[in-house]
Formats: sequence, C-alpha cells, structure tokens
Amino acid sequence: MSGFSFATRVIEEVDIQSRVVELGQAIARDYQNRDPLFIVMLLGSVPFAADLARAVDIPSEIDFMALHRFGESGRIGIAMDLTTPVLDRNVLIVEDIVDTGLTLTVLRRMMADRGAASVATAALFDKTARRVTEVPIEYRGFEVGDEYLVGYGLDWEGLYRNLRSIWAVLDIEAFVADPRILSTALRSP
Ligand code: 5GP
Repeated sequence: MSGFSFATRVIEEVDIQSRVVELGQAIARDYQNRDPLFIVMLLGSVPFAADLARAVDIPSEIDFMALHRFGESGRIGIAMDLTTPVLDRNVLIVEDIVDTGLTLTVLRRMMADRGAASVATAALFDKTARRVTEVPIEYRGFEVGDEYLVGYGLDWEGLYRNLRSIWAVLDIEAFVADPRILSTALRSP
C-alpha cells in the first residue's frame, strides 16, 4: 500500500490484471458456443472492458451504452444507446462498479425487455455495503469498502480514468479544492 495523505493506492495494477484474466477465463468457459455480446457502460467501464474482452478467447461482440441519472430522484435515462440489437443475444453487461445497484437493475430489466436470450453482469468492483436494491453480479472482480475510488476507468470530475491502479480518496475536501491533486502528486519526483 502506498500513497499520500489525501489518497491511498488500494489495488495494484498486477492484481487487477490477474483478476480480470480469471474473470475472462470463467466467462469463456460459461459462454462456449453462446457468443456473448458485451455491453460496455460508458465511460467508466472502458479500460476494464478492453482488458476483459481480450481475456475471453471465444467469439464475442462489443457494443457501448451510456446512461444518465437525473439528480437524486434516481430516475435513469439513456444518454447513448446500443447499435446492436440484443434480441436473442446472450448479453453480458460490463460495469466498472456497482454501488446502490440502481443503474444495474434498470439496465438488466431493459435488456430483458428487449428480448435478450440471457442477461448477466461482470462488475470489477462491488460496494456490497451500499446496496439499496438486490441485483445479481455473476462475475465480480473485487468486493470493496465504501470509500470513493479512482483509477482504471473510475473518475473524479473526469480525471484519473487512465491510472493503472486503484486509489481511494481519503480527503474529499482536498479533491474538491484541487481535482488534479493526485496527478500532480504522482508526477512530482
Ligand atoms: P449505482 O447505480 O450502483 O449506485 O451506481 C454505480 C455507478 O456509480 C458507477 O457506474 C459509477 O459511475 C458510480 N460510482 C459508484 N461508486 C464509485 C466510486 O467509488 N468511484 C467512482 N469514480 N464512481 C463511482
């Protein structure tokens, strides 16, 4: 574990990579002859999806979707839809992190309503303790605490998605005051 007073590294790049390969192998086993359609949730799931899809060595397809949440109401709408029909497809939703579970619940229902043959989820991180609604996660990378995480797709104000490891924010006020605080610290000798 390494870090600064305002953020600490909680998952190393090698541990992410080996877990993603394990998930990929499990998916490849379960989806033999079922050609999964990966539905990648923008923006946060992109690094995970890129590594996961390459760890699944069977025929598969990838498409992208973006949802947005209307304030605290919890209402969820489509910001960008898929271009691939999901009818009769074996859909595998790729999520960066499941928190309350509301987004995933809506998404799974949406895929079932569109006639998917099956719907499952691969989520790299699971904040189980914060769940508001029960939702299955068939392929789960890591169970994490309720700290705010950044890195490997997860952002703070759009930043840090490009970090290779995962950092927990320890001092929210420091990030609010200076969103670039972690990149500045990582670049200084
Ligand atoms: P849910 O609907 O499960 O509450 O929301 C999940 C979404 O919340 C994730 O896809 C992600 O965008 C965001 N989220 C939840 N926890 C974190 C976190 O620790 N860090 C970041 N960057 N985003 C998070």
